Amino acid sequence: MPRPERLNHPNMYRKTIAALLADLAARRISSVELTQIFLDRIEQSQRLNAYITIDADRAMAAARAADAQIADGKPAALTGIPLSHKDIFCTKDLLTTCGSRILYNFVSPYDADVIERFNRAGAVILGKTNMDEFAMGSSNETSYYGPVKNPWDLDAVPGGSSGGSAAAVAARLSPAATGTDTGGSIRQPAALCGITGLKPSYGRVSRYGMIAFASSLDQAGALTQTAEDAAILLNVMAGFDRRDSTSLDVPVPDYNKTLNDSLEGLKVGLPKEFFGSGLDQEVGAATQTALKEFEKLGAKLVDVELPNSELGIPCYYVLAPAEASSNLSRFDGVRYGYRAKDYDDLTDMYKKTRAQGFGAEVQRRIMIGTYVLSAGYYDAYYIKAQKLRRLIAQDFDYAFTQCDLLMGPTTPTTAFQLGAKTDDPIAMYLNDIYTNSVNLAGLPGISIPCGFDRTGKPVGLQIIGKFLGESKLLNAAHRYQTATDWHTRIPAEFA
Ligand code: GLN
Repeated sequence: MPRPERLNHPNMYRKTIAALLADLAARRISSVELTQIFLDRIEQSQRLNAYITIDADRAMAAARAADAQIADGKPAALTGIPLSHKDIFCTKDLLTTCGSRILYNFVSPYDADVIERFNRAGAVILGKTNMDEFAMGSSNETSYYGPVKNPWDLDAVPGGSSGGSAAAVAARLSPAATGTDTGGSIRQPAALCGITGLKPSYGRVSRYGMIAFASSLDQAGALTQTAEDAAILLNVMAGFDRRDSTSLDVPVPDYNKTLNDSLEGLKVGLPKEFFGSGLDQEVGAATQTALKEFEKLGAKLVDVELPNSELGIPCYYVLAPAEASSNLSRFDGVRYGYRAKDYDDLTDMYKKTRAQGFGAEVQRRIMIGTYVLSAGYYDAYYIKAQKLRRLIAQDFDYAFTQCDLLMGPTTPTTAFQLGAKTDDPIAMYLNDIYTNSVNLAGLPGISIPCGFDRTGKPVGLQIIGKFLGESKLLNAAHRYQTATDWHTRIPAEFA
C-alpha cells in the first residue's frame, strides 16, 4: 500500500488537537514523530521554566503503544495525542511535587482520576507543568521550582497558578494541558498567555488524586488553543467517580455536538461590577470589541448586576485558607516527601519540616486559615464567609433569570512584570476579582483570547455559564473563534 502523503512536520506544533487527531488517523504523522517534536520544543524552551518534570523515555514508550493501537485500527478518543499535566495531578511512577519543596521527592502510588481517563483515552504524557506552590498564587512566582516566564514577554508573569500549563500551550510546547482552578487558576493564566482556559462546574470532573487546596472550590479543567479542543478534552475528563464524594452522578453530554449551534437570540448579561473602576482601559476596550462580535453573531446584550461581587475576594480569602489549613495538615514529614534533617523530638520535627518545606505564601494561608477556624473567630469569620458565599451564589442565580451567559474581562489587567506584586499579597489577590466568585458559586467559566494591549500582551474574555452549562459556554466560545483569529496568534519567539 502506498504510504499516505506525509505532512510538513515543522508546522505540526501549531495544530489543534482536532487537527492532529485527523492527521494521526490518516497516518500523515505518527505519535512517535509528534511526541518527539514537542519534546524537542520543550528542550529548546527551557528558559520558560514551564515544566517541573519531563520523562522523555516514558513519553516515547506511550507514543509507540499509541501508534500500535492506531495500526490495529482501534484508536480511542485521544490515542497518540501528547498532553502535559499540571503537577498537582498524582501520576503513578512520575514525580508529583505540587510546586512545593515538601513534595520534592513524592511519587504517587496511583493515578488521579483525570490521569486515568487520559490514559484510557490513549493520550501521551509529555511532562508535569510548573505551578504556584499548592496552587496558591496568581503569577507562578510561589513555585519552589522558580517562576515561569510569559512567552509573550519573558519579563512578565504567565499568571497562576496553572502558569506552566498556560505558558506551555501558548508557546506550543504542548498541544494542550490540564490545570486546576480554585479561584481563577485556569482562566487567569489562560488570559495572560493568550489561550483558551475552561473551568468546568464544581463536581463535573473528579478531584480524586488532585492534590487538595480548597476542596469546596477546586476544579480540574483544560488549557487549550481553542474551545473545540476544550470540548474534546472535557469529553474525556468529565464524569462520575465514586472516589470523589462531590463528583456528580449526572450524564455527560457530547460537548462537540453543540459547538456550532447558532447564537441567534442568545442573551448575554454584562455584570456592571465587572466594568467598573480598577479595569484597565485597554482590557476594557478589547472586551467591548469582543462583545460587539457576539452581537454580530446574533447575541443580545443585557445589563445585569452582581451586587455582592466586591465581597468575593474577602469571602474567598477566608474560606480557601480555612480549607487549605486543614488539607495541608497531612504534610508533616512522616507520610510524604521532605523531612527536616536535625530535630529534637516529634513536635520539633513537624515544626522544622513545615517551616522548611512550605514557602511563605503557603505558610501565610495556613496561618490565616487556622485563625479563622479557631474557637472565638469561627463565627465571626468562617461562618460569616459561608453566608456571604450563599449571597454571591444567589446573585448569579438571579442574573441568570435575565440571561443565558455572562461575559466580561477575565482579569483587570494584562500580564504584569515578574516581581511587581510579590511583596504585596493583596495586590496579587486582586487579580482574581472577576474569577473567584465563579468558584464560590460552583459555576463553569471559560477565558478566550480577544485581543492585545499596546505592548503586545494578550487580553482574555471571560464567559460564565449556568451550573453544568458547559455546552453553551463552549458553543459561544467556538462561534467567536470561528469568526475571529486571536486564538491562532503565537508569540513571535515561539512561532
Ligand atoms: N490566585 C488564587 C489564589 O491564590 C486562586 C488560585 C487557584 O485558583 N488555584 O488562591
